[in-house]
Amino acid sequence: MAIKVLAAQNRLYKNAFVCKECKHKMKLESQKILTGKARCRKCGGRDFRPVRKK
Ligand SMILES: [Zn+2]
Repeated sequence: MAIKVLAAQNRLYKNAFVCKECKHKMKLESQKILTGKARCRKCGGRDFRPVRKK
């Protein structure tokens, strides 16, 4: 059971990032983040961090 929960969390957070400007959370391919092609839909910012970081 615990393994299934972990797998689900992995799927949910793997490609999710938070905009550093407006804290908007969205799904993005990490490859796009690395290449600088990702842009926030809300504010147009290009600075992102992974969702899980506290
Ligand atoms: Zn933003």
